[in-house]
Amino acid sequence: MTADSTVTEPIAAAATATTFADIAIVGGGLAGSLAASVLARAGHRVALVDKRAVYPDEFRVEKIGGQQLEMLRRLGFIRSLASVACSYDRVLNVREGKVVDVSVGQAYGLPYAGLVAMARGQMPDPSSLIVDEVTAVTCSDDVQHLELASGRRLNARLVVLATGMAGALGYKLGIRRRVLAASHSVSFGFTIARRDGTPFDFKALTCYGERTADGVDYLSLFPVPAGMRANLFMFRDPTDPVMRDLRRDTEATVLRLLPGLQPYLGDFRVTDRVRNWVMDLSVVEGHLQPGIVLIGDAFQTNCPAAGTGVARLLVDVERLCTEYAPRWLATEGMGIEKISEFYSDRDKIAADQQSLKMARFRQALTSRDDISWDVRRRLHFLRRSITHRVDQMRPGWLAHVRSALRA
Ligand SMILES: Cc1cc2nc3c(=O)[nH]c(=O)nc-3n(C[C@H](O)[C@H](O)[C@H](O)COP(=O)(O)OP(=O)(O)OC[C@H]3O[C@@H](n4cnc5c(N)ncnc54)[C@H](O)[C@@H]3O)c2cc1C
Repeated sequence: MTADSTVTEPIAAAATATTFADIAIVGGGLAGSLAASVLARAGHRVALVDKRAVYPDEFRVEKIGGQQLEMLRRLGFIRSLASVACSYDRVLNVREGKVVDVSVGQAYGLPYAGLVAMARGQMPDPSSLIVDEVTAVTCSDDVQHLELASGRRLNARLVVLATGMAGALGYKLGIRRRVLAASHSVSFGFTIARRDGTPFDFKALTCYGERTADGVDYLSLFPVPAGMRANLFMFRDPTDPVMRDLRRDTEATVLRLLPGLQPYLGDFRVTDRVRNWVMDLSVVEGHLQPGIVLIGDAFQTNCPAAGTGVARLLVDVERLCTEYAPRWLATEGMGIEKISEFYSDRDKIAADQQSLKMARFRQALTSRDDISWDVRRRLHFLRRSITHRVDQMRPGWLAHVRSALRA
């Protein structure tokens, strides 16, 4: 293998039994596809292997905003994201039927499959995607060997494991998942429309839960190309009968859990299949091995309500693909002294820890009913609504005071 990763050569023809690449990325979800595009655009020989040519219509992240956009801009994906997603810049936040505040800031809504397609579409050479399943990986300080279900082989200097929550491949390498919180959260995704066909009066809306016993963190409504998308995030026993009610009689159950939502929605109906997902919070162990690095959900899962999954995987992609992998490839070998640099990266550790912290915070804010959390919850929403009212009366004044205090 050449140590000069700036030389771009086409990956060996698909028909040959063994393919060579600088970097083999296993898993073409959002993490793997972004990583493949960033590395390939920088001139590295990349092979992205995924079981499916097109990511299926599965429920994952469906809205992108805040600091995620800044990271996507730095990585060069913002224009393509804007061209395939629905843009919105105001979210009306309500609780118990009353406005808490309004969040202002650019955001985009789109199905996860569209997001992955956008990321894959940025690879300069579409033939870098190999549609196959990796069945085994053998790693060393030098060349890594991958076996594919079709019988083909792939050799690479570095393997990036971006297989999401699928643990089989890692398991064969002795990598285990430590479950930090089983069935931590339950998420529902569906699309809604007004029965009379008129548009909703808001661009995007978040409605927070009203009673701790319901375990509803919030329902987020935002535009996607197919209409108004709903993401409902809960901390509740996934075997509770309310889960079945939410699948079978979604409209009535949503209004039973969030009665204050009625005036905002009017007479609405669900227009597609209701999907739901029970999430365990977990992190891998035994991952520090030569020649292989884990990113995205393959390394750590996230609480969907906390909305930190994409920020985490973007930090992984940015640090690995713009800093470490190019440097590692410039010299011989791929031992653990190189790999450990990525896992010790300050930004990565901070993003991983922040994700777990936010997961625990959202759960406590939603469902803890002891006195201290009850007070915190009241103060949380009171502070937000007072800030909002002051901002309405004297626009920009609070921002001015905050920046003066920071100076
Ligand atoms: C319901 C839900 C809602 C969410 N909402 C949010 C949100 O609002 N905000 C947020 O920031 N995050 C959210 N997340 C988290 C976010 O969606 C994930 O962090 C992100 O999708 C992880 O991407 P990934 O590329 O790591 O994994 P995945 O997208 O799961 O990709 C893994 C890929 O690996 C492939 N693969 C697996 N094994 C093999 C193999 N052996 N060979 C070849 N290919 C293989 C699979 O086919 C798949 O394409 C949510 C998650 C869920 C489940």
